[in-house]
Amino acid sequence: SLAARRERPDVPSSTPRGHCHRQRMRIHELKRRLREAGAGPLHEQRVLRLWSHALPRDSGRRRPESFFPASLLAALPSIEAELAALARIRSVHPGADGSERLLVALADGQTVESVLLPRGGLCVSSQVGCAVGCRFCMTGRDGLLRQLGSAEIVAQVALARLRRPVSKVVFMGMGEPAHNLDNVLEAIDLLGTVGNIGHKNLVFSTVGDPRAFERLHQGRVRPALALSLHTTSARLRRELLPRAPAMTPEELVAAGERYARASGYPVQYQWTLLEGVNDGEEEIEGIVRLLSGKYGVLNMIPFNAVDGAAFSRPSWERCEGMARTLHERGILTKLRYSAGQDVDGGCGQLRARAAGMQIP
Ligand code: SF4
Repeated sequence: SLAARRERPDVPSSTPRGHCHRQRMRIHELKRRLREAGAGPLHEQRVLRLWSHALPRDSGRRRPESFFPASLLAALPSIEAELAALARIRSVHPGADGSERLLVALADGQTVESVLLPRGGLCVSSQVGCAVGCRFCMTGRDGLLRQLGSAEIVAQVALARLRRPVSKVVFMGMGEPAHNLDNVLEAIDLLGTVGNIGHKNLVFSTVGDPRAFERLHQGRVRPALALSLHTTSARLRRELLPRAPAMTPEELVAAGERYARASGYPVQYQWTLLEGVNDGEEEIEGIVRLLSGKYGVLNMIPFNAVDGAAFSRPSWERCEGMARTLHERGILTKLRYSAGQDVDGGCGQLRARAAGMQIP
């Protein structure tokens, strides 16, 4: 049954879970294999750089044969074949705004979505499914099916780079990055070093998790932070995000503020606007109370309605009015439409449709 295939999000992703899990290549295993094949640090870096940029081995001025040890050259074809088999693009769905939704098939037949955004952005997935179960999200409906390995996360970037340059990677696709922390942080480390993505252009997006806040401070690559707030009411947040860690909006903003000051990047507070739910006067007062003077920006994204969904999108006038009022009261607010929404709606819908599931 589906339930039996779910993985517990609170188990560290390094915990062995049998054969299937071991097959999901992780970057530190890839590095170990390269070293066992005789790679030194520079050889390792070159292999990882070429892979994360989707470049062939003989690209550039210096051909690897001139400085790779023979044992490494002998091992590389099978390692490269494994990397290439991690993920492939099953279908591409262009949007009118220049975005492209990519349905990515993994080696075991599972699928995730990546979205190429205008201006060099890429939104990647960190899990197949998600355990948080946000009421307004398709991905959360089946719970968590499995974690992505760190190599599968980087593979999404490599695949996207076959289509166009990628200079920004946001972890806002399927899944909750804080529930797959080891793999997401390993991918961020690679992307922020040999992957050539500026640290502030790596965006860790989370519903908020004390373990994630702790770990983000420690890495050599510190990504920017997006926090899914959605409401200033602790009670409503528990309803909308039923399995998010128990942190109140006050605690979330306090943790976000500490990270913003430490990293030097403003926090992006995410707010999905739901008509009659979180678009009222009391939320405006709550936002002013919580975010005044904070180093952050409020991104309001009107809900992307799907047929039969329990929520609807507020009118554009309502959304604009709310953003204007907040601006006048000193809160840096941006009103956005989610990219690619004319293709197949919000996260998880493309995958759901591909799998033949009913939407919703
Ligand atoms: Fe998970 Fe994000 Fe969907 Fe919530 S909105 S269920 S955290 S994928």
